[in-house]
Amino acid sequence: MAQKVVIIGGVALGPKAACRCLRLAPDTELTLVDENTFISYGGCGLPYYVSGEIQALDALRSTNYQVVRDPDFFARMKGFKVRNQTRALSIDRVKKCVRVRDLVTQAEEDLPYDKLVLACGAKPRMPNVDGHDLSHVYTLTKLEDAQNIRKACENGSVTEAVIVGGGFIGLESAVALADMWGVKVTVLEMDEHLMRSVLPESMGLMAENDLVQHNVRVCKNEKLLKIEGNDGKVQRVVTNKQTIDAQLVIMAAGFIPNGELAKQAGLETIANGAIKVDASMRTSDPDIYAGGDCCSIQNIITGKYGYLPLGSLSNRQGRIIGSNLAGINDTFPGYVGTWAIKLFDLSIASTGLTIDRARLEGFDAISVCVEQLDRAHFYPEKDMMCLEIVVEKGTRRVLGMQGASLNGHGLKARIDAVSACLQYAKPTVNDISNLEVGYAPPFASAMDVVNVAGNVADNVLSGRFTPITGQDFVKLWKERADNHIFFIDARPAQAGKAMEAKNADWHAIPLEEMEARLSELPRDREIAIICNTGLRSFESLLILQRKGITNIVNSLGGMQALKQMGLDRDL
Ligand SMILES: Cc1cc2nc3c(=O)[nH]c(=O)nc-3n(C[C@H](O)[C@H](O)[C@H](O)COP(=O)(O)OP(=O)(O)OC[C@H]3O[C@@H](n4cnc5c(N)ncnc54)[C@H](O)[C@@H]3O)c2cc1C
Repeated sequence: MAQKVVIIGGVALGPKAACRCLRLAPDTELTLVDENTFISYGGCGLPYYVSGEIQALDALRSTNYQVVRDPDFFARMKGFKVRNQTRALSIDRVKKCVRVRDLVTQAEEDLPYDKLVLACGAKPRMPNVDGHDLSHVYTLTKLEDAQNIRKACENGSVTEAVIVGGGFIGLESAVALADMWGVKVTVLEMDEHLMRSVLPESMGLMAENDLVQHNVRVCKNEKLLKIEGNDGKVQRVVTNKQTIDAQLVIMAAGFIPNGELAKQAGLETIANGAIKVDASMRTSDPDIYAGGDCCSIQNIITGKYGYLPLGSLSNRQGRIIGSNLAGINDTFPGYVGTWAIKLFDLSIASTGLTIDRARLEGFDAISVCVEQLDRAHFYPEKDMMCLEIVVEKGTRRVLGMQGASLNGHGLKARIDAVSACLQYAKPTVNDISNLEVGYAPPFASAMDVVNVAGNVADNVLSGRFTPITGQDFVKLWKERADNHIFFIDARPAQAGKAMEAKNADWHAIPLEEMEARLSELPRDREIAIICNTGLRSFESLLILQRKGITNIVNSLGGMQALKQMGLDRDL
């Protein structure tokens, strides 16, 4: 008898698992249910439809040979039945069936299964404030949301918008509205910096600077209190600090995994409700698989179960589940947490742990940040690239890397290289120093920026110099009246002299002159050195150390990092 498979959820993971299973075991009797009308669409493309970069909504649910993936497509081309507008109500693990309700007719029935797949995804977290149910308050998670938001922009009824949440979806939404539609956008973030859970402060500031440069207002440490409207429609947003006029609100305050069905059925879940699965993507019931945004898998770096709702993971896990449904024993290795985002000009990418996350997980870790050209210095086209490497002190094990650059593709290449190391080994800083990445002047430097990140981490761990972050350098500068620090600018004379002319506490001593001007340096004060990227300041520091001056801190990433963070304005 043919094996019966039921899949609940039909966006990313569900259809992937179904198609893979039927490719390997075509006689499977497979039914996929989803409560929505539209299935199998690229949710990650929604911001680009809102912005207008993607013209037609159907592009997000078409194959790359331009056939729309609707229930008929899956029945005819892939050999399985899709029941959209059908909600799964409960799972009976003893009788092995799923109770479903047709949302059009309200008829209920039981669907029997031999194997069940939970691909239920996650729902957006809705702050429970007055006015959250007003018209023109959206989440950007479904095709219909994107359609409504774009319509409102197209018909000119939106000139001001508030985005609640400064994470991935909030920032992509802000860019989409401001870039293409000229909407005056405010991003509300209740944390201290943007993307706090996934980025270090430096890169949160870089993201903010990119938004601010493009007229998006960023309000940090600020909480949504209520949304007010007229005739049922949004008019303004009230926070703990101000009232902001808005005709559109996008709630982007994170996700809650849809783990209720699993929990009711007695399957194991983690604290946030995500369904716990093993490496085969099996739940605590061997006949039930789960994957994608509703599930929790093991973090390869920490060894603990974690939660990261990403389409990249969902699609790959779908294939593994499909193989396992067909009887091939395949496994998913877990995740390290690798992602990328494009803002206006700036791209940001990350793999592994941030410094904050590493410390929360109990690692005795440091992070160092480097700024370097992404291509050979003599090649005409090039951009700066900032990489922050996170390292465990004693073992010198690399735990993560985050980066920001105008060159998004180049940045992603570096982060992906480190991601591969993190997934399959426990790389040390020396491994990153020697990581073999391709070189030709139009793509990289012979000593690539990713290698330099390893080198600088090695220097810091070996005690060759004491780094400070750009943020801390600026803080020292602002507090200079109290702490008697002697500030040196080691850039070429012209750049440093301009700063020196503005403030006598700023000492322009270019690297080339450092040795000759040693007598100008006080011996009883700490020295803080900065240059353009951190290279000249490091060379200067070596000269000073050779001359017995050791009380020095070196600003990592130099003025370039400050510029990217928008902190150069504070000097
Ligand atoms: C705006 C946006 C941008 C994104 N950008 C990126 C990106 O750039 N990169 C990246 O990696 N990821 C991105 N993501 C995340 C990615 O879209 C998700 O990780 C992915 O869609 C998850 O797929 P899934 O199949 O697990 O769940 P979902 O896509 O959430 O699908 C689950 C489906 O199951 C249905 N369902 C749930 N419960 C039931 C039930 N009881 N009965 C019937 N049906 C049910 C839901 O209604 C839904 O249709 C983005 C997400 C959004 C919203």
